Amino acid sequence: MHCKRCAKCCLTSPPTLHKEDLSLIIEQKILKDKLLVLRKGEIIFDHFKQQYIVLKQELIKIVSTKLGCYFLKNQNCTIYEYRPIECKHFFCQNQQKILEIKDKNLLQRFDIINKNSAIGELISEHEQKCSLQLIKKLLNTKQYSKLEKIIEWDEYLRKSLKDKISIPDNLLNFYFGRPVKEIINNTSHLIIHL
Ligand code: SF4
Ligand code: SF4
Repeated sequence: MHCKRCAKCCLTSPPTLHKEDLSLIIEQKILKDKLLVLRKGEIIFDHFKQQYIVLKQELIKIVSTKLGCYFLKNQNCTIYEYRPIECKHFFCQNQQKILEIKDKNLLQRFDIINKNSAIGELISEHEQKCSLQLIKKLLNTKQYSKLEKIIEWDEYLRKSLKDKISIPDNLLNFYFGRPVKEIINNTSHLIIHL
């Protein structure tokens, strides 16, 4: 049995990047604005476990479109020769190889960004002020006015960076993850219970 390169797997969930994929970003084979950060504490659907899970650490994933992975065009991977390690290890008929690496050596934002740079410091401040742990606590205790302030600060930060230094939305979603309002709107029912 071998992979037929039918690309069906590329339609479901784009790969999560591992430290082995760092060179793809450094060499700009994959640009940062094609990446999405899912932050620690966010709730995602795990396609392997077929259930919702709370992230124990952040994930960096290739962004998806309505048609699956961003790099899938006309049922072909446009970066096939330098596709991420998860894509190399995935085979729908035998998941042993992908399960061996799946949660190991995951790439983190501070593997890519200098923690002491201006943007690195803003990421740390954002993590501290908008952590999912804090959001969960405020949702559970119905402290909606405090939650509103977190949403406002997150929006203010993104708008300031857009207005002052023209950082596009896609890149903001790499630096700070998805907007807090979007996370709450999409998963607040799960955040409270998981
Ligand atoms: S791993 Fe399976 S689903 Fe993915 S391209 Fe190969 S044959 Fe198709
Ligand atoms: S990077 Fe290529 S192989 Fe991997 S999911 Fe995307 S389209 Fe498929």
